[in-house]
Amino acid sequence: MKHELPQLNYAYDALEPYIDAQTMEIHHTKHHQAYVDKLNAALDKYPDLVGKPLEELLTNLQNLSVDDADRIAIRNHGGGHMNHSLFWKYLDPSNQKDEQFVADVAVTFGSVEDFKKQFTDSATKLFGSGWTWLIRNGKTSKIEIINLPLQDNPIMLGNEPLLGLDVWEHAYYIKHQNRRPEYIESFWKVLKII
Ligand code: MN
Repeated sequence: MKHELPQLNYAYDALEPYIDAQTMEIHHTKHHQAYVDKLNAALDKYPDLVGKPLEELLTNLQNLSVDDADRIAIRNHGGGHMNHSLFWKYLDPSNQKDEQFVADVAVTFGSVEDFKKQFTDSATKLFGSGWTWLIRNGKTSKIEIINLPLQDNPIMLGNEPLLGLDVWEHAYYIKHQNRRPEYIESFWKVLKII
């Protein structure tokens, strides 16, 4: 069983004018597809890993019997596959407001506005390529905002991802060029769960 690119539940232009159709199409069919292809290529050498669920690979990276280069490839491309699969779901315009999510965020951060401010600040400051996440900490059960580099996913550290924003330049450069804060503003505009 090879890993496969998931279909989007919505059209590439569904998030216009905030996230443009060209960015969505390239992001899905080129960037995400490349993570899937390179993950499959890395796993090809290890028949016992081919059928394993992605979650199992990513939560068990250090114990996989693979070459170090392949471990890095599984981390980067497996993480990329998982992160983007989640991202398309977060952005789904048919999502409904998640009242429990809103309540949890308000309790932790004071208000939804304060949460958005802190998340925006974290995403703005992230240096280089990576993601800003809202996670539920696996040890304390508290919800927290964290930045992770490259394509690392919170489950690699035993945490549950609740919301994630891709702040790689490929996620926004066509429309927003170097203006990351403008892209983050667009993210809040299209997000329906909060
Ligand atoms: Mn991306």
